[in-house]
Amino acid sequence: MSDITALAIDLGGSHAACAVVRESEILAQRSLPANGSEPLANLLPDLAKALRELLASSPIDHCSALVLGFCGIASARENRVLATNGKFKDATGLDLPGWCQREFGLPFLIENDARLALLGEHAFGAARGVQDAVMITLGSGIGGSALLDGRLLQSKHGLAGTIGGHIPVVLGGRRCSCGNFGCAEAEASTSFLSEIYRQQAGRSTGELSNRKAIGFAEVFQAADAGDKAAIATLEHCLQVWSALTVALIHAYDPEVVVFGGSVLKRAADILPRLQEYVGAHAWTPGRTVSLRAAALGPDAALLGAIPLIGSRL
Ligand SMILES: [Zn+2]
Repeated sequence: MSDITALAIDLGGSHAACAVVRESEILAQRSLPANGSEPLANLLPDLAKALRELLASSPIDHCSALVLGFCGIASARENRVLATNGKFKDATGLDLPGWCQREFGLPFLIENDARLALLGEHAFGAARGVQDAVMITLGSGIGGSALLDGRLLQSKHGLAGTIGGHIPVVLGGRRCSCGNFGCAEAEASTSFLSEIYRQQAGRSTGELSNRKAIGFAEVFQAADAGDKAAIATLEHCLQVWSALTVALIHAYDPEVVVFGGSVLKRAADILPRLQEYVGAHAWTPGRTVSLRAAALGPDAALLGAIPLIGSRL
């Protein structure tokens, strides 16, 4: 892949990371504010301008393609956005390959952002050298992707491997944003953390009970200080993540499971517990699946542009 260079965009609901990438190296990078409640069409001129400036400051004179990692359901086969979860709703109707051709004269490739991150981790990071891998991102929601026999799992409607966070892990559990009940995301993600904390606090009041929105960093901090509701909240979340990990191991038979997302700042507190549970309860005769923290952090999806191009052009 040493000849592949890319313009890469990792588009999320609040910011867009733009970069010029060559093999495992990000040559130039810039983050732009982005508002997912507005049309993507309004953001395209800013993205094109940023990429042109980054390209001008990079020591290369040619790019292989432009790759967009999109925060919704995208089809790499059809090279378009299939559906959004409310962010950049107009994206399903945009001719993005046409925009890319007009702006840069380059081929355009699209992939879901979590899937692109796993491609990056597989080529250059924590899943390097394995054929079968699953990635789970723990943050405001629970995202995921699956790679089998060295290739991202593909399906007609684009969902295969990506909605592991919506596997139900609690019967009779909390209603999730997807409409289902007891999804891992509804039981152990930042979006639902205030509710989970208050449920664990019960009639007693925890240190964080009156806060409208809390993050895992605060819950870990409160637990470190001895707050019982925070300790119970983390215990609940660890059990949910453990059950989810076993479910995904049983679904995809990976060699490794890579964990990314903001919650993994406390990987040293989380992964040994999950590894212990997986060792005891996942049915993988004769071996134990290795659980690893993501190695590339927020750069994973940008670096995933290189293997995506390598597999498509
Ligand atoms: Zn759900």
